[in-house]
Amino acid sequence: MEKMKRLDRETVRAKWLEFFESFGYVAEIQRVGDNFPEERSLRVLFGDVDHFDPDFALYVLEYPDQAIFDAGKAAVLDTLLPEQREKVEARPPGINIRLIELPDDSFVEVRRLRHEHVDRLIKTSGIVKRATAVRPRLLEGVFRCKKCGALIREPQDALSRTIREPIECYKEQGGCGKTKGQTSFDILPRLSRFVDMQTIQIQEEMEGLRGGAQPRSMQVILEDDLVDVVFPGDRVRISGILRAVPQRRGQEKLNRFDTFIEAVSIEMEKTDYESLEPSEEELEEIIDLSTSPDLVEKIKNSIAPNIYGYSEVKEAIALQMFGGVPKETPGGARIRGDIHILLVGDPGTAKSQILREVAAIAPRGIYASGKSASAAGLTATAVKDEASDGRWTLEAGTLVLADMGTACIDELDKMSEQDRSAMHEAMEQQTITVAKAGINATLRARCSILGAANPKKGRFDTFLTMVDQIDMPPTLLSRFDLIFVMTDEPNEQKDTDIASHILAVHRVGEVARQRDPEAVPAGVDVDLLDVERERVVAPIRRDLLRKYVAYAKKYVFPILSDEAAAVIKDYYVSLRGRAAGQEGPSPVPITARQLEAVIRLSEASARMRLSSVVEKEDVHRALRIFNYYLSKIAMDTELGTYDIDMIVGPMSHRERKKGLELRSLIVEMVKERRDGVTLEEILEEAKEHGFNEREAEIILEKLHEMGEIWESGGRFKAVSRR
Ligand SMILES: [Zn+2]
Repeated sequence: MEKMKRLDRETVRAKWLEFFESFGYVAEIQRVGDNFPEERSLRVLFGDVDHFDPDFALYVLEYPDQAIFDAGKAAVLDTLLPEQREKVEARPPGINIRLIELPDDSFVEVRRLRHEHVDRLIKTSGIVKRATAVRPRLLEGVFRCKKCGALIREPQDALSRTIREPIECYKEQGGCGKTKGQTSFDILPRLSRFVDMQTIQIQEEMEGLRGGAQPRSMQVILEDDLVDVVFPGDRVRISGILRAVPQRRGQEKLNRFDTFIEAVSIEMEKTDYESLEPSEEELEEIIDLSTSPDLVEKIKNSIAPNIYGYSEVKEAIALQMFGGVPKETPGGARIRGDIHILLVGDPGTAKSQILREVAAIAPRGIYASGKSASAAGLTATAVKDEASDGRWTLEAGTLVLADMGTACIDELDKMSEQDRSAMHEAMEQQTITVAKAGINATLRARCSILGAANPKKGRFDTFLTMVDQIDMPPTLLSRFDLIFVMTDEPNEQKDTDIASHILAVHRVGEVARQRDPEAVPAGVDVDLLDVERERVVAPIRRDLLRKYVAYAKKYVFPILSDEAAAVIKDYYVSLRGRAAGQEGPSPVPITARQLEAVIRLSEASARMRLSSVVEKEDVHRALRIFNYYLSKIAMDTELGTYDIDMIVGPMSHRERKKGLELRSLIVEMVKERRDGVTLEEILEEAKEHGFNEREAEIILEKLHEMGEIWESGGRFKAVSRR
């Protein structure tokens, strides 16, 4: 690009004055002047400057230092009334010109910022990943000469990290004229002038990244009234000047430079999912699809089509992508609409692959591991940031970065202690509070969580409750709307199906590599290939599905119909009623928490159809999936009812009952054998009373843990508490 000719300062200043007059900014400048210093910024639409004079607009982009910080500010001062001017001049940096809404052609992705952008005005965007505390930066230092005591002013360089001292005790400022070698200076902070400053780090949006590229980050310097307006997790657009400063090794300046952006203005992304807005043709496709009779099948089969089976899991994940309706109670409490799902499974099952695929399909999807390498981990923390001179900064973790999206977290059971304690708040209130090293902040984490965890003992054991199997506290497990166990048990029919599916994936892939896909060699059945292709190719293109989901989440907020509400109520009341009808103490089949999960799933089903009403059929879909989940892991087969404590309690109802039974057996045995009984004797006795041996062992261990029985020298004792 040909470089524009540089104009002199007075010409540029006159241009601004003309612009302010002809585009109605004079009254606004005087209004800001009246309210100064509470108000310190004049917002100028770049489009206005462009209308006024396109060449001048280009000039501002090319020479922002002169055009904005120098001549522009001078023009603002010229426009102020005398008493306003005095007040503004006395408090640097005065009134800032905040150019907003820069044109699209000045947009540069963080990863594409290059040396030719240095000192030019550009705009870029990203998620705020870190933000330091606000600290003063020296604008103009006042120094005292150690020889003569004169006070000397020295303006400071914004780009330098070090203080610039006067080179001599300036005579024109009333000093003695001695140079730096002959005298030295003390800085007087109380007389010096400062501006508030904050450094943030923005990270590119995942949306624009393809093929496993890692997101890049950039430091942004915010000053004066731009500080403390954005927080980690916010998606922002920044207009600013790209700066380059030499790297240092000790006192030495290197010929390599570090870059950062000095912000001129900062804007929050106006709407969510902006980049996923469908085109007119795509919208037509989306509407068409929403009325298709096999919509649910199509969406479900577009999730990880390479992986065979797991029909219910995929359908649940499809609902999760759409989510329920977030709402506020009349009292102001927030109820989440996001659906949390946990996949528990033997190693080698398809968990990780499903998670990766969902992160790629779901808008604002992020894939991360529970044992993340970053300090912020899944939630957020205060860290010492070397790039910001070792100051404490607030760093956002996965759940904050996935705000308004889906966080797919592998090895969730391996999360750090810090994450563990922040997770309850993150999953229910969908906020994360950090109070550490003087940083107090509450960050938003309005995302759905698709987690995966391995059983503690390697393989899933149907005898044990969920709490015994997964290294996660019951209070966290109870926050998942659905938990699915993915086991890898041999089964002839299933294995045959899996094998043919995997073969289909490979054969379709092989054919796609042929130069001429039509010329299929002999020995390969073309018709069979077509069937296979049908099975393994996603029915909906990934980019269209993303836009479909984004569209539904942005525009569709369904309401439960009377009929749908009645079905949910009946389900809840009758399940609890059936359990209450049992003899003796009864298990709790579901609680209000599960009821809310059913509501969310029903809303999600309606959203998936782009319907503004939750119909009976939506509730039926939700209940089918919900019953599938409970029947797999919360079924008390003896009583024929659900027992939610099999998932979220330390002991299931059955274990509690059997535990009492076993303990009284031991009490009876110990009455005759004062020195206690051996494990073998207990198990023998238990077997005679109809206990399954494995179950008796598990219960015995729990009784021992709870202090109900105790052991010494291999002999057990128990005392009746009556
Ligand atoms: Zn002096």
